[in-house]
Amino acid sequence: MSAARAPEGNADLHLHTVYSDGTETPTRVVELAQAAGLRAIAITDHDILDGYPEAAAAAQERGIELIPGIEMSASWDGCEVHVLGFFLELHYQPLQRLLAEQRQRRIARIHDMVSRLQQLGLQIEPEDVFASSGQGSVGRPHVAQALVKRGYVATEKEAFNRYIGNNGPAFIPGSPLAPALVIDMIRQAGGIPVLAHPIYLNNDRLIAQFARDGLAGLEVYHSSHAPDAVQRYERVADELGLLKTGGSDFHGRGKEGAEIGAATIPYSLIDLLKQWKGTHRTRSCA
Ligand code: AMP
Ligand code: ZN
Ligand code: FE
Ligand code: FE
Repeated sequence: MSAARAPEGNADLHLHTVYSDGTETPTRVVELAQAAGLRAIAITDHDILDGYPEAAAAAQERGIELIPGIEMSASWDGCEVHVLGFFLELHYQPLQRLLAEQRQRRIARIHDMVSRLQQLGLQIEPEDVFASSGQGSVGRPHVAQALVKRGYVATEKEAFNRYIGNNGPAFIPGSPLAPALVIDMIRQAGGIPVLAHPIYLNNDRLIAQFARDGLAGLEVYHSSHAPDAVQRYERVADELGLLKTGGSDFHGRGKEGAEIGAATIPYSLIDLLKQWKGTHRTRSCA
């Protein structure tokens, strides 16, 4: 659903900024969204909400609707599971506390991954990685950037293929949280939990399980979903009664095929998200 232009406008609900592993500021992301002719966007940084205020100011100035968003990391049976959250309350304290813990774990994980790389004979220090992430939520792409800078690999892709991809010798899982816990926290924060890029999970039975755990939506449209995958996930979402979302998973410079607007949804699907939020009591207390 990327190329077609809906009469009511299009939205890209999966975008990263410098607050996690994207290369662009929230303001720049909004500018690019405007240039791509989008009506609405969501910034979905990994385990962090801090890009929202800057993006909100830029979006208001340019007449773009900004939907509060996040991409939270969980794991299931050693596999990474990413859960998007939309329309959440940014200042809900239990969520903010969990995110702060997640970011601390991300920092500890970088130290562990760097130790693995050192054991493999690579001269790299944690500071090389943190120089790349700045104040943002640190992750594997920052390790990849440090490896490129040190000349051990030619591209970030090669860093994933040789060292830090899911089966790589220096890979360490990113989050100990169960998907059900993350789903529940997003709902408690008033948000809509959506399973990100199900193609990476490649296990449709798990989607049904997550739906029983309270998952509300499926990211059917994604820059890594070929047309046959989109059709399959449209069917899965319909069968399980899940909302459909979509986005490019833009990370900025250097990721071909994932430009802003590379995967979009018609605004009518956002109306459905809003309807869902209006009819589901997501908070457990007043
Ligand atoms: P992390 O949250 O630290 O585990 O990093 C996950 C991020 O790494 C994803 O959002 C992608 O941006 C990137 N990533 C994961 N796998 C790959 C891969 N095989 N090649 C390039 N980038 C990847
Ligand atoms: Zn990322
Ligand atoms: Fe992801
Ligand atoms: Fe993402």
